[in-house]
Amino acid sequence: MTPKATSMVFTGTGQPFRKKQSSLPYPGPGEILVQITYTTICTSDLHTYSGRRNAPCPCVLGHEIIGRIAVCGTGKHTDDTGIPLYAGDLITWCVYAVDATSEMARKGMPQKSPGLYKYGHQQFSDTDSLNGGFASHCLLKKGTAVFKLPDAINPKIAAPINCTHATIAGALRLAGSVAGKNILVTGAGMLGLSACAMAKAGGAAHVYTLDQHPDRLAFSKKFGITQTFSSNLTTHEIDARLSATEKIDVVIDTTGRPEVMTKGLELLSTGGCAIWVGAVFTQPATRVNAEMVVRKLLTIKGLHNYTIPDLEAAVGFITLHQHDYPFDALVGATFALDHLNEAFAAAGNGSYYRVGISQ
Ligand SMILES: [Zn+2]
Repeated sequence: MTPKATSMVFTGTGQPFRKKQSSLPYPGPGEILVQITYTTICTSDLHTYSGRRNAPCPCVLGHEIIGRIAVCGTGKHTDDTGIPLYAGDLITWCVYAVDATSEMARKGMPQKSPGLYKYGHQQFSDTDSLNGGFASHCLLKKGTAVFKLPDAINPKIAAPINCTHATIAGALRLAGSVAGKNILVTGAGMLGLSACAMAKAGGAAHVYTLDQHPDRLAFSKKFGITQTFSSNLTTHEIDARLSATEKIDVVIDTTGRPEVMTKGLELLSTGGCAIWVGAVFTQPATRVNAEMVVRKLLTIKGLHNYTIPDLEAAVGFITLHQHDYPFDALVGATFALDHLNEAFAAAGNGSYYRVGISQ
């Protein structure tokens, strides 16, 4: 019998995923056919499922993916660090395939190249069906950055590398060296906890979290946190709890909430820098006091998605620090691919940082 691939297809807001089977393709030049082993449900998958984010329909969602190489097409023999690739190797890959010669890629912003091919965000069709994480296989297009992973890495830890951790690696790149600095991370969800761990591993003197959920603040203490703050506190109240040597040098915002981003700016000390990665949905304008920005020599930087060196940094960070923080505990439940509807219901109730799918 010819081997088949299975995909769980998103067919519309709130609709049950529909199971479809297709023939396994043979990868073309520069392509790789991957047997997916584990996928985590990202918050943006939940946004698409509930209609808060536009996506092609039908499509196969899921982009926080890892898998083992089934077949390499001609011309694809190494990962992006030059490590030889073989069938059976465990890999992660960039959430997009890009033409490296495009103008935006040459300017250092490959994620903004026109016509980007985005895994978990492509139209599902008879000729292009294996392009998302909630499936048995994924066909990696030419131009997809690939990184080999340690064979024994916990899949719960590895799957979020190519979205959560790569985005935060990009945020840390924009922040510059954090050694000896005090970092405030606003939002203690998946992205926020990754930021705490990376800042701490980067030599930050103190890392603080701010969030509206007491349980999330409590859990963040396992990620090297000095002190936590409820987002109900005013700027003045938070400032009063920080000593003169604890003033904030860098704020990394993962909430995307205007009032929180304003508070983060107000808490920055002279010369401070705010990195915004959370504001990826339509929202009211954020209030920025321009005189304060000028007088305090502040910098504001935004980041959407990430570059390929950011993904490489994230792979290196997780490989090195996977046991330093309880990353595995961030995936609260695992479901089989056939039970994707139950998995989305579990992920949507908000009690887990991530829910995983084991293929
Ligand atoms: Zn994501």
